[in-house]
Amino acid sequence: MSDKKYDLIVIGSGPGGYVAAIRAAQLGMKVGVVEKESLGGVCLNWGCIPTKALLKSAQVFEYISHAKDYGIEVSDATADFGAMVKRSREVANGMSKGIQFLFKKNKIEHIAGFGKLKSKGKVEVKGADGKTEIYEAKHIMLATGGRSRELPNLKQDGKKVIGYREAMSLEKQPKSMIVVGSGAIGVEFAYFYNSIGTKVTIVEYLPNIVPVEDEEVSKQLERIYKKAGVKIMTSAEVTKVDTAGEGCKVTVKTKKGEEQLECDVVLSAVGVSTNLEGIGLEEVGVKHEKGKVLVDEYYKTNVDGVYAIGDIVAGPALAHVASAEGIVCVEKIAGMNPEPIDYKNIPGCTYCQPEIASVGYTEKAAKEAGYEIKVGKFPFSASGKASAAGAKDGFVKVIYDAKYGEWLGAHMIGANVTEMIAEVVAARKLETTGHEILKTIHPHPTMSEAVMEATAAAYDEVIHL
Ligand SMILES: Cc1cc2nc3c(=O)[nH]c(=O)nc-3n(C[C@H](O)[C@H](O)[C@H](O)COP(=O)(O)OP(=O)(O)OC[C@H]3O[C@@H](n4cnc5c(N)ncnc54)[C@H](O)[C@@H]3O)c2cc1C
Repeated sequence: MSDKKYDLIVIGSGPGGYVAAIRAAQLGMKVGVVEKESLGGVCLNWGCIPTKALLKSAQVFEYISHAKDYGIEVSDATADFGAMVKRSREVANGMSKGIQFLFKKNKIEHIAGFGKLKSKGKVEVKGADGKTEIYEAKHIMLATGGRSRELPNLKQDGKKVIGYREAMSLEKQPKSMIVVGSGAIGVEFAYFYNSIGTKVTIVEYLPNIVPVEDEEVSKQLERIYKKAGVKIMTSAEVTKVDTAGEGCKVTVKTKKGEEQLECDVVLSAVGVSTNLEGIGLEEVGVKHEKGKVLVDEYYKTNVDGVYAIGDIVAGPALAHVASAEGIVCVEKIAGMNPEPIDYKNIPGCTYCQPEIASVGYTEKAAKEAGYEIKVGKFPFSASGKASAAGAKDGFVKVIYDAKYGEWLGAHMIGANVTEMIAEVVAARKLETTGHEILKTIHPHPTMSEAVMEATAAAYDEVIHL
């Protein structure tokens, strides 16, 4: 094969693209990855990783501020916003360099530039110098990901009305911030900024914050955020932002009428739009609908030899989903027989404090689906480990099918619950019943005992309540 001929070319090096590339290389393919920015995509550079670095800084600051509760005197702790942002950027850069290393190790070529489907088996790449080159591949995978979604009445100027990229790289800490949208991105930034002293207001269009979560989880987070000083406006909509003066004048429509708020910065956290523009979909005839490329269960588009994965296809826009899709797609291309992804068993995590983790049906959704259910709940206030850690907020709630014991869903809010949800995902994958979980010995003292206890509660056998 000449230099410009590959078995697989991936356009986009996010957790979908780079993981697919590595798996393909493991399976013996010659792989090239076209990337116009730093390797690692949104996840490593502007999403999962840098936000978690900022959240860790906020958490450490909170710990120090409450050191007295643990018998430690600390005076004069101050949050150095610039240093926190610098650390977060360094963590992201380090992760991106890690992908460079993995590419080298797996003999994957990084083709720098903007990639576009040119015709069947051909990708055109425009480099930073404006020159274009054509690369050939038997298979082409689109993994171009997403960007911050813009609402018509909330145009981002990158200074006063910002998206997530600016929110994690501001030069100066704003005194006040209005966060529009309370999904994972919105509540994570709200936690970060509130913890370090910014006055934060959340405006959410729906009746509950973190609206995809079980209602009890949403209510608990709302109570905790309000106690921590975050102002929360639900069933509310930002209709206008006036940035003409020094700060922002924000008009919020609520059930009671219109309210005028003022802040330094508005963070628009209303979801993601997909990067489908200019990548040759129309030219090559790849079908897409409502911003998503249409694919089959192995991520093949309607055009032979063209595949799409990650945020640009239907399904939850999450890094672990993008990676799993990339692996299934590449294994199918290699002639293996991979199991299609079960989209009903995808965990979702939110890394605010307390953390949120969930998988499967909410109580409401299970009832609506016609299940007869057993529900159990165990509060961390009754957990020995949570008491010792000073982290008694939150609970684990589990939902089982009353007839067969199938684990329909689990919803957690509390310290470190994002590390606990994998137990539920594995158990559901193995079709474990509630009774088996109840009889699975969990180590003491751990937060994870709450999963066993919540299950025991569902079967009226709870011990510590
Ligand atoms: C603030 C924030 C926090 C998040 N936190 C989490 C989290 O904690 N957990 C989680 O699971 N998910 C999280 N996500 C979501 C997660 O980042 C995405 O679901 C994931 O990155 C999608 O992966 P992807 O491979 O589809 O695309 P992306 O990661 O978006 O990568 C796409 C890549 O393609 C490149 N590209 C685009 N077009 C072209 C082109 N034409 N030519 C060349 N290159 C191109 C882009 O530069 C980019 O590098 C978060 C997202 C945000 C914004």
